[in-house]
Amino acid sequence: MMTHGIHRRSLMAGAGISALAAPLVLARAAGAAEGDTMQMAEKPSSDSFTLGDFKLLVIEDGTRMMENPGETFGTGQDPETVAALLEENFLPTDKSLNGFNPVLVDTGSEKILFDTGMGPAGRSWGAGQLRAGLIANGVQPGDVDVVVITHMHGDHIMGLMEEDGPAFPNARYVFGETEYAFWSDDARMGTPAEGGHESVKKLIVPLADNATFVKEGSEVAPGITVMEAFGHTPGHLVFMLESGGEKLLLTADTANHYVLSLQRPDWHVRFDMDKEMAAASRRKVFDMVAAEKIPFLGYHMPFPAVGFVEKTDEGYVFTPKTYQFRV
Ligand SMILES: [Zn+2]
Repeated sequence: MMTHGIHRRSLMAGAGISALAAPLVLARAAGAAEGDTMQMAEKPSSDSFTLGDFKLLVIEDGTRMMENPGETFGTGQDPETVAALLEENFLPTDKSLNGFNPVLVDTGSEKILFDTGMGPAGRSWGAGQLRAGLIANGVQPGDVDVVVITHMHGDHIMGLMEEDGPAFPNARYVFGETEYAFWSDDARMGTPAEGGHESVKKLIVPLADNATFVKEGSEVAPGITVMEAFGHTPGHLVFMLESGGEKLLLTADTANHYVLSLQRPDWHVRFDMDKEMAAASRRKVFDMVAAEKIPFLGYHMPFPAVGFVEKTDEGYVFTPKTYQFRV
């Protein structure tokens, strides 16, 4: 995690970053002089680009190394089949790196944040960087007008609260109607969803008075439409962004490994609560992305988490974005 981007960051991380934005980690490039260390305060990776009149800012909240990717993204598959596919795609067979990529969409009239990363609880292991990343890009937490939650797994909602209260004190919230109904229900007690229920009671329920509850076809703001893609969780949502004739689909956790879950969308994924329904949603969502030839942003795709898919016989091939949004 420390091996990439040091050079670029050292150029970007100016001396003027405030103490708040600064860095829990001080990075020093090999061979740099002793006195250079303080100039190289690390800033969370971020990427901004425009889509019509919208401005998108992706912040890498953190990354987590996972063992045995096949057990997560190819549940029940022959390990040799999974290993062969990973090797074909120049990836290690024993580990995978999973990133968390919230995005701020500035529509020109509102700053709308989709998902919130790991929050304060993630900072002990280097995640929870959304807040510092926003500040480093000139966005104060109080500037965020709307916080949209795609679904209520911890890696998407833990950044809603800081130690002293709501992380985005001036925001209104957008939650999925079905998702909220599931996780906030006391019927989850004594089930595998009990931990999630407890988190939602702590992080989401206190904000519900200031929330709009959405479903298929709801509009979050002009040009931002809700689509249901249930399965990963009971009320998992994706969002179509449209501005100035351009489109991008925020696919959230519809597919969570850019090779295993896109090239083999029918493989079962450990984190998908309804595995068959999640696979059907993957097909539906990525068939649309492929057919419309539009870009998508997936929360766990490799940073900056944006790319395209081409349909193949068995699934889809991911092509990361390069300069398409700059020309
Ligand atoms: Zn997730």
